Amino acid sequence: MNDKRQSGWRSRTRAVRAGLDRSPHGETSEALYLNSGFVYDSAEQAEARFLGDDEGFIYSRYGNPTVSMFEERLAQIDGSEACFATASGMAAVFAALLCQLQSGDHVVASRALFGSCHYILTQLLPRYGIAIDLVDGADLEQWRGAIKDGTTVVFFETPSNPTLDLIDLEAVIGLAHGVGARVVVDNVFSTPILQRPADYGADVVVYSGTKHMDGQGRILGGAVLASQAFIDDHLMNFMRHTGPAMSAFNAWVLLKGLETMELRLAEQCRNALSIAGMLENNPAIERVLYPGLESFPQYELAQRQMSAGGTVITFDLRGGKEEAFKFLNGLQIVDISNNLGDAKSLITHPATTTHRAVGPEERAKVGIGDGMVRLSVGLEDPDDLVEDLTAALQKMA
Ligand SMILES: *Cc1c(COP(=O)(O)O)cnc(C)c1O
Repeated sequence: MNDKRQSGWRSRTRAVRAGLDRSPHGETSEALYLNSGFVYDSAEQAEARFLGDDEGFIYSRYGNPTVSMFEERLAQIDGSEACFATASGMAAVFAALLCQLQSGDHVVASRALFGSCHYILTQLLPRYGIAIDLVDGADLEQWRGAIKDGTTVVFFETPSNPTLDLIDLEAVIGLAHGVGARVVVDNVFSTPILQRPADYGADVVVYSGTKHMDGQGRILGGAVLASQAFIDDHLMNFMRHTGPAMSAFNAWVLLKGLETMELRLAEQCRNALSIAGMLENNPAIERVLYPGLESFPQYELAQRQMSAGGTVITFDLRGGKEEAFKFLNGLQIVDISNNLGDAKSLITHPATTTHRAVGPEERAKVGIGDGMVRLSVGLEDPDDLVEDLTAALQKMA
């Protein structure tokens, strides 16, 4: 579908039109090809298609016209050459790592990770003889010490979940490439709207479509983006034969989500910045972490590599679990939920939900305390959100 690539288009035009592949019916919106298989004109055509000599679809585990439109649109938004869509963000992370690793390899990753990414790296990979070193992602000296000759893959998310630690894309990608390692970036918190790791030379970028791409709490999805050569040499066969393909229906929902993602992100980031400023001045709160605030420890880096502070604010309430639960239970508008990037504002207590399984020791190492809460800011009127949060904070006192 590269012939449909319009290189001159600006981002908002790409978001609405990139990858559009109309059928002979001339439908306005993208068609939903809700089918598993495809028929051939002749036995010869079937043979040619399996040989790769005839362009066209074979089976929806390999590819599907609706999924393919989503892949092309996202690749163009991300600035990557190619994309393979997956059933969830975790399927994307797992495939991006496993498709290229083998026994004896060495992986370096940042310690502050999404809980399931932490499980894959620290529990699963070592079972297959892959060595892992975790570093404090904000400390370049630790990256320098851990990345060495023989390191195969460097993996990190920036900002991280839930502490919003940033990783210097240019510096860490430079260190990795210096020893010939590939870099896999989980760009879920930033989305390609706020930050494009491919522009810094990241070899593989992974997304959860579940978060900001859908942005309306409906479906699960994910994607792996990379060069065509990486997809052809490493990912394609892994995907075809292990089967984490995205469903056509989910791709269709995500295509529509991509159309409005930039507009939603702009509003959500604006809301988040004003709420973060308000929280910073509330005496019930000990510390506010938001990359768009000047008080953020890595504010300079945020300004350099992100176009806005993001949709997530993490903050420490004075007290512990009891106070945090009181605060969450006192909210009227903001829902208690562990999802993020949604039109609805959502809040969670990482120590007892998303990061429960990593254990108290690892939580302490990355700075997740019992008074910490993670707020995903939605599209509601910011004044209503501020009133809701303020009222719940007052009720705690
Ligand atoms: C949610 C999330 C994932 C996993 O995505 P799913 O679609 O839920 O599988 C991976 N990484 C990060 C940083 C996430 O927030």
